[in-house]
Amino acid sequence: MIFISAGHNSKSKKVKADPGAVANGYKEGDLTIEFRDLVCKELDALKAPYITDADEETLAMYLQRIKTGPGSVVIEYHFDAASNPAATGTTGLIEIEADRLDKAFAKELTESTAAILGIRNRGVLDEGQSHRGRLGLMREDGIICLVELGFITNKSDLDRYFANKQLLARRHAEIIVKYENIIP
Ligand SMILES: [Zn+2]
Repeated sequence: MIFISAGHNSKSKKVKADPGAVANGYKEGDLTIEFRDLVCKELDALKAPYITDADEETLAMYLQRIKTGPGSVVIEYHFDAASNPAATGTTGLIEIEADRLDKAFAKELTESTAAILGIRNRGVLDEGQSHRGRLGLMREDGIICLVELGFITNKSDLDRYFANKQLLARRHAEIIVKYENIIP
């Protein structure tokens, strides 16, 4: 099964909403919900079933609910943020215990994102190398990646994302389905 989630529940009304980073007039959580939905539409077109987080769910609630297994693909979208508005690029985060498939999945996601958006590929980092530290998402089973699509603090990253998000969503859906099919 595919598990796809939007970083930050910016639209929750019943539980405390988390906007994520806010910059250039955008909330990270709004952008990630939109992109999650774009990828889900492409997964529908590919007839690939999936489970997503709900708008009224925090990350903790979502992780509590989902039942992942060794053949699962788990992906979550975020945008990066930095005090330097010139910071740019896409990053894939994987678990410290990442195996060959986690690494290959993250590599394809970051390479395709950098190519389609025309932004820098910052590469694949494990959670220990990131400023986030250990991530709850990484304690799930399966092939797992947290994708930072670009920098919300970089106007050019955002413009490139808006111009190419449909194409990017299609490519991500193809990659997700490919990895979902590897382990039956
Ligand atoms: Zn985030």
